[in-house]
Amino acid sequence: MKLYEYESKEIARNYGVPVPRGKVVSTPEEVLKVAEELGPVVLKSQVLVGGRGLAGGVLKAETPGEAYEKAKSLLGREIKGEKVEKLLVEEKVCISREYYVSITVDRASRQAVYLVSSMGGVEIEELAGRHPDMIKKMPVSPMVGYTSYMSREATVFMGLPWELSASVDKILSAMYKIMADYSAELVEFNPLALTCDGKLVALDAKIIVDDNSLFKHPELQPLFGRGLSSFERKAKELEFNYVELDGDIGVISNGAGLTMATMDAILYYGGRPANFLDIGGGAGRDRVKEAVKLLLSHPKVKVLLVNIFGGITRCDEVARGIVDALAETGVSKTIVVRMLGTNEEEGRKILAEKGITAYSEMDEAVSKAVSYARGGE
Ligand code: GDP
Ligand code: MN
Repeated sequence: MKLYEYESKEIARNYGVPVPRGKVVSTPEEVLKVAEELGPVVLKSQVLVGGRGLAGGVLKAETPGEAYEKAKSLLGREIKGEKVEKLLVEEKVCISREYYVSITVDRASRQAVYLVSSMGGVEIEELAGRHPDMIKKMPVSPMVGYTSYMSREATVFMGLPWELSASVDKILSAMYKIMADYSAELVEFNPLALTCDGKLVALDAKIIVDDNSLFKHPELQPLFGRGLSSFERKAKELEFNYVELDGDIGVISNGAGLTMATMDAILYYGGRPANFLDIGGGAGRDRVKEAVKLLLSHPKVKVLLVNIFGGITRCDEVARGIVDALAETGVSKTIVVRMLGTNEEEGRKILAEKGITAYSEMDEAVSKAVSYARGGE
């Protein structure tokens, strides 16, 4: 779960990271008041997408009047598809140079890793693509944790004045603590700015908290479900693994591997998945019914493809769940089923009684689903 910049900065401030003075507000009148206190300000749209600067979501204002007018134009606008409801109004900082620092999880080495660069302000993916040699990776041994020699390495690599190594130390150690305390997947300051008077300030902050750790953080519970569509929220409540995509074929499958293979097969046959829902292993009639009902009610889903490999999941239970869902919803969308394995024959019979053919070959089922989605017979 992504935290907003103002939330991330509040955490950063509490851990001793220097951030500009500022306030989060939601009306131009409030912006005017804050700007009167702060002098020249930067208005920052609080949206969860990156690259706000380039998309016109970060504006500078020299006077309170200018801040008021610019706030009026920003509030309610959309930045990369996200509506701006709050602005972070901050004192305008004079920047001498922009740096990049983050800490994230390196899954391959199963360690935390710092990434630092003297080319901040650019999104890290772009930087990694164009100048990979300008990024230093510093893995953190979980046995030892953060140690301050890392800050000295970082200071040298970024070419910062040596006097700032104590400040870098403070910032990097705070990032490690934040990561541990909030179970963060990412703590990023981009840019970390060197100001005209020679100080380091986190001008932008981004923290992503691991959703699976929310139970450990009661203070973050109210944020649960933020940024999710109503379908994603419903699926989460039902404890399904569900991901929204932008095609028109809904997918229900069991197990991550088969679900991914189903996605690949759909794309291979020229179709586009609208979403996928993994019912997991051993799902019974009721779970299947809930899953089918959820996807059938999705406006983007034209065709529903159910691809089940019966191991501990029984095909007859799946078939009953599908039939129950149809009886309850009465939606007239096309359903294509492929099932194989435990109680396959019985499942096939149950579906046949309702006029649904269950295929046993995955290719056959997927290509049928794709052709139905295209309006074919
Ligand atoms: P992002 O584009 O969503 O990453 O938003 P940022 O918060 O990183 O802001 C984008 C850019 O705006 C930064 O890289 C800076 O160049 C600029 N910026 C942000 N805050 C200030 C500020 O206080 N003073 C100045 N001069 N520039 C700022
Ligand atoms: Mn940024």
